[in-house]
Amino acid sequence: MSNSDLLQRSLAAVWHPCTQMKQHAAGGALPMIPIASGKGVWLHDFDGRRYLDGISSWWVNLFGHCNPRINAALREQLEQLEHVILAGCTHRPVIELSERLSALTGGELGHCFYASDGASATEIALKMSFHWWRNRGHANKHEFLCLRGSYHGETVGALAVTDVAIFKDAYAPLIRPASTVPTPDARLAEDGETAVDVARRAAAALAKHLDEHHQRIAALIVEPLIQCASGMAMYDPEYLRLARVLCDRYQVHLICDEIAVGCGRSGTFFAHEQAGIRPDFLCLSKGISGGYLPLSMVLTTDSVYAAFYDDSVSRGFLHSHSYTGNALACRAALATLDIFAEDRVIESNRLLSAHLARCLEPLADHPRVRHLRQRGMIAAFDVLSDDAQFSEHFYRQALAREILLRPIGNTVYFMPPYVISHEDCEFLVARAIAALDAALR
Ligand SMILES: *Cc1c(COP(=O)(O)O)cnc(C)c1O
Repeated sequence: MSNSDLLQRSLAAVWHPCTQMKQHAAGGALPMIPIASGKGVWLHDFDGRRYLDGISSWWVNLFGHCNPRINAALREQLEQLEHVILAGCTHRPVIELSERLSALTGGELGHCFYASDGASATEIALKMSFHWWRNRGHANKHEFLCLRGSYHGETVGALAVTDVAIFKDAYAPLIRPASTVPTPDARLAEDGETAVDVARRAAAALAKHLDEHHQRIAALIVEPLIQCASGMAMYDPEYLRLARVLCDRYQVHLICDEIAVGCGRSGTFFAHEQAGIRPDFLCLSKGISGGYLPLSMVLTTDSVYAAFYDDSVSRGFLHSHSYTGNALACRAALATLDIFAEDRVIESNRLLSAHLARCLEPLADHPRVRHLRQRGMIAAFDVLSDDAQFSEHFYRQALAREILLRPIGNTVYFMPPYVISHEDCEFLVARAIAALDAALR
């Protein structure tokens, strides 16, 4: 088998996500790479070329491709139970995973509801919040609030709280309206302002909005510390602290969507820990299964759970997916949590992210680079360029240099698996700088 056989067959039969398929046609703007195998941070195609997975395969992979420990756990699980209906049945992996995730929140989020992808976790959190208020006699609370530039998934319900034009505009007539409030994005700092000042300014706008509209608002949903999909917008934890206070004051739930920033990405296991707060609902997906299997969940407090616990069926939370709590996916998540504990990953990632920061130093005074920023295992910078196709040009130049990076517009970012070696980290950034200079030429 060769790359070209597979490319032809893929183009004839597969509809790829988030893609104008015509760009993949022969001679089109974007080449597609058929991947034969993966090992650690490296992906290999069918023609013997390799690519360093600098974006963890859309932010999901934490401990490398074909990780021996996750593979072994899955092999064992395959011999016991692959899947069983979670309505009316339960099983060890789902129980253990729920207990361990709750423990990671200090026991404060004591119940865990399962789905298979991130957008479904968003929808579950929204529905649960609304239903909680309804069960408590506040059916008027049926609106949601999100930040400008937020991304919470692309199903019709989740798009309501997603504020990224490219994903939303075409489907506008289908989408329920939600309100947006200013983002605390630190890049918005005006002369002399710090990131904390920007956070306080955004929180003041939130306070004003809640003061006027809280009676109809069920929940505020945020991506803690980093708005990833709209271009790695980073902000100060002060915003989360203030948002928590305001949500309590105005009786509005706080949903933390940690689908991208959870599982150690931001430097702590959960990003919200850096603000010393807890949300009412916590959405997880992406890295939780180590990047192996589709799995998502919403954790919430025992007191939220209690408002659904009743003799009436319709006061229960009526939501289900066929693969809810899939045993293999839960086992992959347990193996992932084992690696966090056994290898003290949060601590060792501090050294790794400091190394990544050192590798990035040459970019700080690159004439075309602005807003070089990093939090934990995510780093990004914005590129000054009028080229409307900058991201495609960079992508191609990067692939030609054995690295897989997909800029978001003019924002180039790094989100490598945590198993990247110091040498590969140097390789990744050095090649990215070379790709940048080539793309700008
Ligand atoms: C990726 C992402 C989602 C959606 O997850 P899917 O599995 O792609 O549906 C939701 N929220 C955030 C913050 C994400 O990064």
